Amino acid sequence: MTDINYIKLLKIPTKENPLKILVSSCLTGILCGYDGTANGEYPSVLKLLNHNTVKLIKFCPEEYSFGSPREMCDIHGGTGFDVLNGNAKVLTESGIDWTEGMIKASEKMLEIATKEAVDLAIMMDVSAACGSQVIYSGNRFAENKIYQIGAGVSAAQLINAGFKVISQRDYASLEVLYSKIDPHHIINKNALDHHEIDWYKTYFNIK
Ligand code: SF4
Repeated sequence: MTDINYIKLLKIPTKENPLKILVSSCLTGILCGYDGTANGEYPSVLKLLNHNTVKLIKFCPEEYSFGSPREMCDIHGGTGFDVLNGNAKVLTESGIDWTEGMIKASEKMLEIATKEAVDLAIMMDVSAACGSQVIYSGNRFAENKIYQIGAGVSAAQLINAGFKVISQRDYASLEVLYSKIDPHHIINKNALDHHEIDWYKTYFNIK
């Protein structure tokens, strides 16, 4: 089932029975980014903070294992799924191997998702931990940085366990989510998920 169809089938939440959404902490404004910032401002997720029919569960996997601020890291040799299978590594920009800590953090995130029985996860795309649609292939500071389709380590851990993960850029899916949360929300039918935008289709040569 596509992510958007899954969201269409989610329950209509109430204050007593809210939708439980696991989010990358930085998307809610928490200063857990590698540089001690929130990695920018993401209104598509911040607006969820204003609804009492949503319970947001915030977690930053990299902060859990490495604290903030910290080095930037990326996946080398594959995606988050490959890291979990032992076929790829997570290295910091200075070359320190963070693979073990990233896997431990992903296990903690899965533990939280399971304990809370979350309905959905919304995670910061492109992150080596939280990316769900697109991540870097190797060091993002390389002269010719390369993107790949794939998930970061924590997102892969959640997906492997059957949880749905979308990104803050999956605007079409988020529109459906807003309409679940707010009966007055009118869905913007022109909104696109990240894999539907021109950049994505051009970069990954998708017809
Ligand atoms: S690990 Fe995830 S939650 Fe933490 S700063 Fe990076 S993208 Fe945000």
